[in-house]
Amino acid sequence: MDCVFCKIISGEIPSKKVYEDESVYAFYDISPMAPVHVLIVPKMHIASVNEVTSENSAVIAHIYEVAAKLAKELGIAESGYRIVTNCGKNAGQTVFHLHFHLLGGTQLKIEMC
Ligand code: AMP
Ligand code: ZN
Repeated sequence: MDCVFCKIISGEIPSKKVYEDESVYAFYDISPMAPVHVLIVPKMHIASVNEVTSENSAVIAHIYEVAAKLAKELGIAESGYRIVTNCGKNAGQTVFHLHFHLLGGTQLKIEMC
């Protein structure tokens, strides 16, 4: 499949890995927008939130467990962080493999949109 994040998960495209288990992969964003900017993705190809169903939603809960663990390990759990998922054109989604931006390490803008 011609998907950049599937290729990162398979190792075909290099990444700075932060975490991996049987269903989730996390790596540093190539173009960070905060001092800590990690992408957490399901290993299974889900294009966007629009494709989340009762069949695949368990991995989303697991991603939030991983996010909490990584926030602690990366030292931003107490100072605070934001988890962002863009879906579709109006949100500016550029990679159509579901991903969760974990952003922190500085005071983030209060504006959400
Ligand atoms: P979004 O705009 O929400 O779809 O986010 C896609 C994110 O993927 C952007 O923040 C990009 O900087 C990031 N990105 C794209 N290609 C790579 C890559 N090869 N390695 C790491 N991050 C990437
Ligand atoms: Zn993919």
